[in-house]
Amino acid sequence: MLAYQNAEHPSYLGRKVAKCYGCGVKCAKSAWGRWCHPCNVKRLDQISAALEDMEARAKFAEAVRKVAGNQDRLIERLINERNAILRAAGGKVTATKEQHRGSSYWSHQSHPDGSETYQIDP
Ligand SMILES: [Zn+2]
Repeated sequence: MLAYQNAEHPSYLGRKVAKCYGCGVKCAKSAWGRWCHPCNVKRLDQISAALEDMEARAKFAEAVRKVAGNQDRLIERLINERNAILRAAGGKVTATKEQHRGSSYWSHQSHPDGSETYQIDP
């Protein structure tokens, strides 16, 4: 049990009487402010739930950012590969619509000397 949930916790005992912000009834003010025990429990439970929801949303947003970052790096790599191929072909290539193919037609090889080659599979 958390301190705020325990009605016998010292934070609720021996304090001045005041009108509760929650229910409006005059009762012993708590160390949490002008909140009676039931109103304070309800209030702090709601705050805890909201914080947990924010934490879950933040984790989801972080995961989305990570995937988007991976995609950005992949696109940059593919553009670099395309530019390397264009340079290797003399910088100017004209392709017909029929010559455009999906990325699965491209094969890539890494060589022991660290170089890499790309080839369009027929
Ligand atoms: Zn109250």
